[in-house]
Amino acid sequence: MKEITVNLHDCKHCNGSGTCKNGKDDCSCLACAKKNDLPFYRLDNSFGLLCGSCGGIGKAEPLTERMNKRMGPMLAFTLVVGLLILVSCAAFLQSSFFSELLAFSSAIIGTVSGYYFSSKEK
Ligand SMILES: [Zn+2]
Ligand SMILES: [Zn+2]
Repeated sequence: MKEITVNLHDCKHCNGSGTCKNGKDDCSCLACAKKNDLPFYRLDNSFGLLCGSCGGIGKAEPLTERMNKRMGPMLAFTLVVGLLILVSCAAFLQSSFFSELLAFSSAIIGTVSGYYFSSKEK
């Protein structure tokens, strides 16, 4: 199985503490107060709220890392959907290549879904 490594860096918003102190007098900022679902009358002066950017763990994933991790499944998904559409079109138009297309796409779809489903179980 492919190892997924995560390079975490300290969250810029809370300086790695996990607690937002970006409001005035070390209060939590408005954005984080909103993320913590506080009622509007408490938005201004709340201390020690969870940092809304990192969810309170003080670490954040670099954006590129997130992109890389999402890219694979996204591509696989697009590929599968694309192939399904292609096969349905061929079936609809009663293309003479239908059986070849079907064999070709089912092989790919099988590989892709097999890969993702088996990797999820582990
Ligand atoms: Zn943070
Ligand atoms: Zn904040």
